[in-house]
Amino acid sequence: MKYIDIENPGSMPAGLLKEGEIFSFRCHSGLACFNKCCRNINLFLYPYDVLRLRNRLGISSDEFLDTYVDIVLRTSAFFPEVMLHMSDNPEKTCPFLTETGCSLYSDRPDTCRTFPVEQGIYHDAVNNKNKLIHFFRPPGFCLGQYEEKKWTAESWSKDQDASEHNKMTAMWAELAGLFQNNPWEEEGTNGPKAKMAFMAVYNIDRFRDFIFKSSFLKRYVVKYELLTKIKNNDLELLKFGFVWVKYFLWGTRSKVIRQR
Ligand code: SF4
Ligand code: SF4
Repeated sequence: MKYIDIENPGSMPAGLLKEGEIFSFRCHSGLACFNKCCRNINLFLYPYDVLRLRNRLGISSDEFLDTYVDIVLRTSAFFPEVMLHMSDNPEKTCPFLTETGCSLYSDRPDTCRTFPVEQGIYHDAVNNKNKLIHFFRPPGFCLGQYEEKKWTAESWSKDQDASEHNKMTAMWAELAGLFQNNPWEEEGTNGPKAKMAFMAVYNIDRFRDFIFKSSFLKRYVVKYELLTKIKNNDLELLKFGFVWVKYFLWGTRSKVIRQR
C-alpha cells in the first residue's frame, strides 16, 4: 500500500488504473512462471495480514512476530515496517510456499491476494481527502499478464476475496500516513508510546491483555457493546487498536472511548 501525496505528483508509480479500466490477467499452474513470484520479495505485512496469519498458523502473536517477520525501521521513518522473513535458502522462498502453491492460500496476505494489482492511498492535501487508487504492475517475468481473461480493479478484488483485507489495509494506510511526522518527539522510536502503538496494531494478544488485564479500564470508559465484542473478536479488537492509537497519540475524539 503506497501513500501518495497530491503535492508530489512525481511520486506516482507507473501503471495507474483509471476507474473501471480493464486489464488482462490469469494465473494458473500451467504457466512457466508458476510460483516464481513467491520468492526473494519484500513482502510487507499489514496488521490484518499478521492477524490472519497468526490465526491460520494457530500460534500466538509473539510467536508469529518472533518467527516469521523482520521489523524494519527506515532512518527517515517514524514507524517500523513489518516484512515476512523469507526462507534462508538460495532462492529465498516464502516460508509458506509449497510445490503446489501457497500453503495458506485462503489466508494469504493482502499484497499476495491483490497481486499484480497494487493499492495506494491518494491524499488530496488541498481538500484533505483520501482516495483509494490501483495500479496494475506485474513484474516482467509474470506470464499471467499475457492471458486473455479481463478484469477491473474491482472485479479482481472480488474474485480474490480481498474486500476485507483491502478495507483493513486502507484503514491502516490512513493511520500509517499520520506517522509521517514525528509523533514521538523526544521519546524517539523506541520509547513507550511507540511500543504501545506497535503493540496495538501488530500484537493482538498483548493488546487484549493490556485492555482487560491492566488498569486500562479503570482509566478509560469503552462503550459496553464494543467491550463485549472486542473481548472475543480479533478483528473488532484490531479496529479498536486503530482507534486507540489515534486517541492516545493525537487525541482524536471517538464515540467509543473516553477518559474517566
Ligand atoms: S508470476 Fe504471475 S502468473 Fe506467474 S505464478 Fe506469479 S502471479 Fe501467477
Ligand atoms: S504467502 Fe503465499 S502467496 Fe504470498 S508469497 Fe507466500 S506462498 Fe506466495
